[in-house]
Amino acid sequence: MKQFSKLHHQIFAITTTLALITIVIISVCIASLLYTQGIDKAESVLRNKNRSVTTLIDGYVAPFRKAVEYVSGSASGIDHNHFREQETQDKILTLFEVLQNTVPNIHYIFSGYEDGSLLINDYTPPEDFNSVIRPWYQAAIKSHPLISDGIPYQDINSKKWLISFGKTLVDPDDKVVGVISIDAGMDAIVEALAIRDEQYPTIYNFVMDNEGKILIHPDATLPDKLHREIFSHLPKELNASGKLSYSDGEQNKLAHFERIDELGWIVVTEVNLDDIRQPLIKTIASTVLMIVIGSLFTTWLMSFILSRHIILPLKKLQNRVQEITEGKDELDKYVLPKNEIGKISEAIEQLTEKALIQKNIELKDTNALLSAISHTDQLTSIANRRKMMEVLHAEVSRFQRKHRPFSVLMFDIDHFKRVNDTFGHEVGDQVLIELAQVVKATVRNTDTVGRWGGEEFVIVCPNTDQTMALIIAEKVFAAIHSHSFPMQVDVTVSLGLSEFTAKHSLESILVEVDQKMYRAKQAGRNQIKS
Ligand code: GH3
Ligand code: MG
Ligand code: MG
Repeated sequence: MKQFSKLHHQIFAITTTLALITIVIISVCIASLLYTQGIDKAESVLRNKNRSVTTLIDGYVAPFRKAVEYVSGSASGIDHNHFREQETQDKILTLFEVLQNTVPNIHYIFSGYEDGSLLINDYTPPEDFNSVIRPWYQAAIKSHPLISDGIPYQDINSKKWLISFGKTLVDPDDKVVGVISIDAGMDAIVEALAIRDEQYPTIYNFVMDNEGKILIHPDATLPDKLHREIFSHLPKELNASGKLSYSDGEQNKLAHFERIDELGWIVVTEVNLDDIRQPLIKTIASTVLMIVIGSLFTTWLMSFILSRHIILPLKKLQNRVQEITEGKDELDKYVLPKNEIGKISEAIEQLTEKALIQKNIELKDTNALLSAISHTDQLTSIANRRKMMEVLHAEVSRFQRKHRPFSVLMFDIDHFKRVNDTFGHEVGDQVLIELAQVVKATVRNTDTVGRWGGEEFVIVCPNTDQTMALIIAEKVFAAIHSHSFPMQVDVTVSLGLSEFTAKHSLESILVEVDQKMYRAKQAGRNQIKS
């Protein structure tokens, strides 16, 4: 029984080990797959957000840039060379008014000229105002002949964040005479940048210029500061967009950036890596947990089923074999399974039964042999004294039950010592053997001749009274006399006989025939006493 439970444990241990190996392999694969997918997804979220913000900014500033181009170009019908003439100034101010009314979000539209003058609606500049030294003028000169980069600044009066675009105004000889500038409100951009993400709460957007200076940032303290960490990771090629990761000292960040080249801006969307990792780790952990539970459950179920289908039948088989070997007639009422185990059980059962039958036959043969040996005299091959006692017992009890008569004859070879002495022991043995055969051949089949000891023999004759016994004794005598023994040995015997009567016992009749035989010896041997 112990071995079977061990087998069960072995199946359990093997399947569990295999399951654990499988779990580890599958878990590692799934974990790395989920992780890569999660990071990819986060990157695509970042990219999409970044792109939408960039597109929005692009779309937002396009009308202002168009307006600047229009005012500075010849299509506007204004000859900026004549900026000092009232007629031109009126035209310009009217155009400014029209533009301000048609293009939304224009905060200021104005032009400054090389003499330091300023043209603007609804605003009177201070006495000492000089356009040429203003930042917007300088920026446009610097960008000549292109539109200046979008430069955010905070309006001193309204405290609003504005962005200014400027462009040089030239005379027909391409000589710079002034600068046209539009200041637009940035609320829409700031709002767009501030839009949060539900899935990744730490996502935010900011804008910096090509030197890494922060222009717009959700943290109001940051603009005008340099963002060295991210700037050092940016590729230097123009018009590039891409992803990057960096550490700001506290957090590892994943970012996506896109340049708006005409504005000289870089729009960055970034998120804390932890923000991506934490939900990922949760997903991976719960997936792995599910795999572990699922795999172990199926494995244990498998080992249970295997045990039921293999070990249980084996146990039953063992019981049956044990029952057969113990020789039980009624076998365990167990239905053999219709598979290999069932067949093996059947075969083992048959083998065991066959072997047992064979053993029984052998045992019977051996028993018969043993019984024959124990009842046969080794030298003469006739019944021995033990057998004779059995026959006598049987006859006595038959006499007592059925009153069936029987007689006992006992004889001893005369002067047998002389035979041995004269011819040797071998000849003596041969005489004994031949005498036994001669006597056996003479008596009836129902009579039993046995060697009582040495050269002494007993004959038990069933259904034989005193008279018939005497006839048998004489027949025996005649047969011995007429037989020619080796070395022409003259063999005679002295014989005593008695019919068993009610006054006899087994012991007393034996004593009686022995005494009669002794008397025959006394009387000169070679004679019968009845
Ligand atoms: P008696 O006429 O008085 O019987 O004389 P006896 O010589 O036959 O009697 P005794 O009992 O003195 O001798 C019996 C002899 O029988 C002695 C023994 O050597 C011999 N004898 C007994 N058994 C065997 C046997 O198995 N083989 C041989 N060869 N001789 C045997
Ligand atoms: Mg004797
Ligand atoms: Mg003798």
